[in-house]
Amino acid sequence: MILPIVAYGDPVLKKVGEDIDQNYPDLNVLIDNMFETMYNAYGVGLAAPQIGLPIRLFVIDATPFSEDEDLTAEEQDVLKGFKRVFINATIIKEEGEEWAFNEGCLSIPDVREDVYRKPKVTIEYLDENFQEKTEVFDGLIARVIQHEYDHIEGVLFTDKLSVLKKRLIKGRLANISKGKINVDYRMRFPAQKKKR
Ligand SMILES: [Zn+2]
Repeated sequence: MILPIVAYGDPVLKKVGEDIDQNYPDLNVLIDNMFETMYNAYGVGLAAPQIGLPIRLFVIDATPFSEDEDLTAEEQDVLKGFKRVFINATIIKEEGEEWAFNEGCLSIPDVREDVYRKPKVTIEYLDENFQEKTEVFDGLIARVIQHEYDHIEGVLFTDKLSVLKKRLIKGRLANISKGKINVDYRMRFPAQKKKR
């Protein structure tokens, strides 16, 4: 089932997510719905706060990035089919020289900005079977993980921009929160008068 994606301005996007356990109601259905919602919007990652749930859960499928022709065949192979569920994740290390990547977010349609992050992350998490994992990721996969991880910490990529950049996009962000935007997937806007 495709769920509405929460738009910029909704307080749920600012909350630090809570850990969940195996008794979380209908977790498998929720995870399936999150993948379906993400694919429908052509995203590579989706975090639970983006569908209105302040919990530490996000899903990633980096396959669309594998079509980037600037990458080596080896890099493409890593991205292709990289589909994961991250539950109760904690990033325990970020390493390397910060690099810029033009990020976007399904909760902030049509806004893309360069964001600086470190290239390598070590993350502890539980997979969809509640198996504990500790893994190291780099490149674009690390980037997607960092973006989604920020969501479960109540942080958006726009929070990481310079004061000047923030000022420049302020009006567009306000419009998004009011639903004054054309978007071809289902969204829920915080500042819109209730009607639907
Ligand atoms: Zn996002």
